[in-house]
Amino acid sequence: MEHRVILFTDIGDTIIDEGTEIRAVPGGVVSRADCLPGAKETMLALYEEGYTIAMVADGLVESFHNTMTQHGLDHIFAAKAISEAVGVEKPDARMFQCAMDQLGLSGTDKPRILMIGNNLAKDVAGANAFGVRSAFLRMSPRYRHEWSNAAETPDYVLDRPEELPALLKRIERELGV
Ligand SMILES: [Mg+2]
Repeated sequence: MEHRVILFTDIGDTIIDEGTEIRAVPGGVVSRADCLPGAKETMLALYEEGYTIAMVADGLVESFHNTMTQHGLDHIFAAKAISEAVGVEKPDARMFQCAMDQLGLSGTDKPRILMIGNNLAKDVAGANAFGVRSAFLRMSPRYRHEWSNAAETPDYVLDRPEELPALLKRIERELGV
């Protein structure tokens, strides 16, 4: 089954619980980490349902390889925009463009792209400026939960990963899929 909405997702404190990350050296590669409650199951279910999922994440390529492989999630990503490889971090448009390019998408596809993340300044502001939909996952104790300007005002707010499938279906209804 094909779905028209395309999911761009952050990893740290969106899928992975940053509070559980294990590194051999401070600031180095993450070797292991736990997932946020409900995140792994939700992402796997969306993949199984046929959604196209792209990773748009700031960090080291090896860190994401390690943690996604650990949880059996590495195969769900049709594209990966990782800041170490791209050379810039979110909210830089090049991170989002990198994912679009890998998926063969153009500007006319932007209305059907939803970026989900925990960071208002990076994920939400970046998605808003790039012109795709933004969803703020309001779970992490490590980042702000309040936005103060239009640039980082999310289109959608989720309190748990399990709310994501219903949001995607709602957007598809809006798009007339
Ligand atoms: Mg994050």
